[in-house]
Amino acid sequence: MFWDQQCETLDRDTLERLQLHRLQETVRRVAANVPFYRQKFAELHIQPDNIQSLADLSRLPFTTSADLRQNYPTGLLAVPCEATLRLHTSSGTTGKPKALFFSRLDVDNAAELCARSFVMTGITARDVFQNMMTYGMFTGALVTHYGAEKIGCLVIPAGPGNSERQLMLMQDFRTTFIHLTPSYGLYLSTFLEKHGIDPARDLALRKAFVGAEPYTEETRRKIEEGLGLDVYNSYGLSEMNGPGVAFECVHKSGMHLWEDHFLMEIINPQTGEPVPDGEPGELVLTTLCREAMPLLRYRTRDITSLIPGCCPCGRTHRRLNRITGRSDDMFIVRGVNIYPQQIERVLMAQKGVGRNYVITLAGYDEMTVKVELAEAGFDGQVEHLVKFQGQLAEKLRTEILIKPRIEFLPPGSLPVNEGKARRVIDERKM
Ligand SMILES: [Zn+2]
Repeated sequence: MFWDQQCETLDRDTLERLQLHRLQETVRRVAANVPFYRQKFAELHIQPDNIQSLADLSRLPFTTSADLRQNYPTGLLAVPCEATLRLHTSSGTTGKPKALFFSRLDVDNAAELCARSFVMTGITARDVFQNMMTYGMFTGALVTHYGAEKIGCLVIPAGPGNSERQLMLMQDFRTTFIHLTPSYGLYLSTFLEKHGIDPARDLALRKAFVGAEPYTEETRRKIEEGLGLDVYNSYGLSEMNGPGVAFECVHKSGMHLWEDHFLMEIINPQTGEPVPDGEPGELVLTTLCREAMPLLRYRTRDITSLIPGCCPCGRTHRRLNRITGRSDDMFIVRGVNIYPQQIERVLMAQKGVGRNYVITLAGYDEMTVKVELAEAGFDGQVEHLVKFQGQLAEKLRTEILIKPRIEFLPPGSLPVNEGKARRVIDERKM
């Protein structure tokens, strides 16, 4: 199942020659058209002609999300504003967002890569796609929307939330694949269960593409069981077109990163030096085909690792492990670095635990994990609950080295996450 077999199976030498050629073009274009890069090159004494091999990539400057904000709104454009076709912004917590421009070629390429990614898992023109991502300024929904249309699928632009309507659409139009965040996937599972819907009997769902926030293998299994479908891990970020940067194939053993469009490095986030293959580090991406807003060595803040070896599907583009965290998500309690995903992994593997949780940090480094119980998680015996609480705290201690307080909540009592979930609430007095 290939969308573009030739590109997807290029032999390594040809792929690397293509990458070098595209990198040289990109460097020449930003040197000529983007004052920000021209100045960085001058500071580092780089001429575009210095880039003679892929190893020379390490001479180029990093680009950070702060650079995007400082050059808001049009400072990083490599084409005249009239040549742009679409504007997206990326979610910013404070201040101005990052403005991301697409030319016609960029819009086409983004759809092309999503089409490749979907077809890789067996999607065809006969499939019906219900897109549960947020439409609007985010790339998540629009880019996959265009990708599915390119294949010829019927696309239902449902957007997130409103689960009653989602269910009606899935039933009436026999939706076969969906695209959603992991937190909404968990919520929708609970919703179907509560309404007595058996996905295998009542729905036509086959596949879900889940991304936009990091999640664990345990969460994947919960969504697969709850929705009765195959969950594929997807990765993208607005700075790199949005979704379609890296997707899983049917083997579900890592995400193929489309290396004819993006050059990847995995570095130690503290030193900026590359880590050995297979070791975890921060993913750094350079765009090779973006026309309106090329970015060199963009620090994604996402922590992942490269999977060595070939994939049985025959694609030559190398694979990334699932994102285990965002270097920004990490928090420190009593001197220990903790990612929310470590806690999620323990919780979701635990029978009796529900699908929603939140971590609160308060006072002087006091950590509480508030977690919903499963519908059948409490038998009415308080002593059983207390014992369970102790066991769970102990399991967490082996994972994160700290024993948090556990607070059990009735199912459905935490706020519903229809977009990106807020997992950590930090109210510490520091
Ligand atoms: Zn594969």
